[in-house]
Amino acid sequence: MDYKNYEIPKNLKFKMEDILALKGFEGSFLADVKDFADIFPEEEKLKKITLKLKMSVLSKDILIKGEVAGILEVPCSRCLRRFDKQFKEEINALTSKRDKIIDIMYITRQTLPLVVGIQDLCSKDCKGLCPICGTNLNEGQCKCREEKFSPFACLKDKFKSK
Ligand SMILES: [Zn+2]
Ligand SMILES: [Zn+2]
Repeated sequence: MDYKNYEIPKNLKFKMEDILALKGFEGSFLADVKDFADIFPEEEKLKKITLKLKMSVLSKDILIKGEVAGILEVPCSRCLRRFDKQFKEEINALTSKRDKIIDIMYITRQTLPLVVGIQDLCSKDCKGLCPICGTNLNEGQCKCREEKFSPFACLKDKFKSK
């Protein structure tokens, strides 16, 4: 038996006896986004998830190395426009050979919260929204911003307050 023909368990719980018989495993495959949807906040949508795994049989343990990558649709924290964010996180785990299963589902679920960003920007220089009228300033200028930045705007405010 060769790991290249090994059928990936749908629930990502690999049987220890299989991996020992195969003397390890190496491969990459698509996982089901539905299995991970609940990890993300409501406004973030997982669109694609791929796993790259290498399991090595050591004397007492199985060493699991790899990476979880994919596409997450998130709102830009400045302009609120939704965009696709690519993500990639490393997987590094060790599991005892005495375990009956190698729970890749669990390991992946532990890794994914790391990709939830505090500040996701659609582009590095996103101009955001006008705080007064809500215009997306990436798409065009609004009147209020022009006024605010003109040297006369502050004068006008001064006169108004008197
Ligand atoms: Zn933006
Ligand atoms: Zn405005």
